[in-house]
Amino acid sequence: MSAPSLAARGSLAQQTTELLQELIRNAAVNDGTPDSGHEYLQVRTLQRFFAGSGLEGVTVEPHPGRASLIVRIEGTDPTAPSLALVGHTDVVPVEPAGWSRDPFAGDIVDGVLWGRGAIDMLNLTAAYAVVTRAIATGSAGRFRPRGDLIFAAVADEENGSRFGVGWLTENRLDLIDADYVLTESGGAPAGSRPSIGVMVGEKGGAGRLLRVTGAPGHGSAPWGSRNAAVIAAEAVTRLARHRGPTVITPQWRAYAQALDLDADTRAALTDPDRFYDGLPHLGGLDGFAHASTHTTISPTIVRAGEKANVIPGAATVQLDIRILPGVTREDVEGLIREALGDLMEQIEIEGDWFGESTASPIDTPLFDALGSAVRRAYPSAELLPMLGVGGTDGRFYRRRGIPAYGFGVLSERWDYGTFRRLFHGNDERIDLDSIALTVNALDHAVRAFHADTGAAARVGARAEAAV
Ligand SMILES: [Zn+2]
Repeated sequence: MSAPSLAARGSLAQQTTELLQELIRNAAVNDGTPDSGHEYLQVRTLQRFFAGSGLEGVTVEPHPGRASLIVRIEGTDPTAPSLALVGHTDVVPVEPAGWSRDPFAGDIVDGVLWGRGAIDMLNLTAAYAVVTRAIATGSAGRFRPRGDLIFAAVADEENGSRFGVGWLTENRLDLIDADYVLTESGGAPAGSRPSIGVMVGEKGGAGRLLRVTGAPGHGSAPWGSRNAAVIAAEAVTRLARHRGPTVITPQWRAYAQALDLDADTRAALTDPDRFYDGLPHLGGLDGFAHASTHTTISPTIVRAGEKANVIPGAATVQLDIRILPGVTREDVEGLIREALGDLMEQIEIEGDWFGESTASPIDTPLFDALGSAVRRAYPSAELLPMLGVGGTDGRFYRRRGIPAYGFGVLSERWDYGTFRRLFHGNDERIDLDSIALTVNALDHAVRAFHADTGAAARVGARAEAAV
């Protein structure tokens, strides 16, 4: 290559910023169709980034264009635990009219980098690549990890990971398997201490389809008709208004404790009977608070009718359902029936897909390493274990009993409400301070984790010598 490689210059933060800009500009938009995504562009960019580092990497491409890249640094001790940094490279589509800037230009304005993927999660994927390269080349201090360090840049997270971690788990587990995993997302400060959010688990999913049966007729005479579109609309309204049971999970209780709230609001938000009284006091956090304490049902795709003058006899409503820990298939069905009431006479529930909620323990050496990394930026900070309300690739690992955390460190200008609003939203962006905080924390955490077993062994030896 003629141009000097990106990684040859600049601090970890600078490298991450420049790599993030390139990844945003590749516009790897996953619209849910197999031929979208184009993650091979991200793989090319990352291969260029790793050029000259001595790291080769393996590329898989289960469908044309849907490529993932996996890079491995072998540890010095084959018995030491391995760590995988798993970053997806696809992004969700944009509605350009809602953006103040070109979502795929990667502009930096007043210390803020704009673009689709800036927080979900090209920022982390770029930081993982930079940390991996720096460790391989010794550019940020010589260090050989005791266990293997794996960097996986994976496709298709935004549509269920069929061409990414899902495929790799089934077909090439050898490439991405590890004893511990870091992935999206985390790092938003909560409260004044502050507490720094770490995703230790996530809700499960149980999408369903409602099939509505009415009776076709002429559009000119609606009175007395059984219009499936009207029944579907009523079903959507009832689902949206329904209040299912409020469950105060341990994670939500801890989160409410960490926020700077008055005592009464906090008491309401941790009491299933008074929860909705507290909700209006939460500002931009209300949606997260609600989703953290409820099995939620979002009607997302509604279809009815084919001709303007024909009353539709059939309609369908797709439901995005996210379940709390412990919720069963039967609970999901019961919740839908309860919300729809007598409408159920004209509606059938289809589908039985069910993915349980997952959570990782926090008494692990990796969680400790994350804590020490965060305290370099925020000396009095505590980690706040959170339950994610969406899905990430972490679930593929947690289901196999492997601890997976969503980790990052954001600057003080962030709160979780803002973070969630920009996730998949308009004007997605990140400040350069947060990029620097995150990549430096990751670099520290990886080194602390991979040195830890050695340190523990040394402490043990010393204790023995003292006896
Ligand atoms: Zn994501």
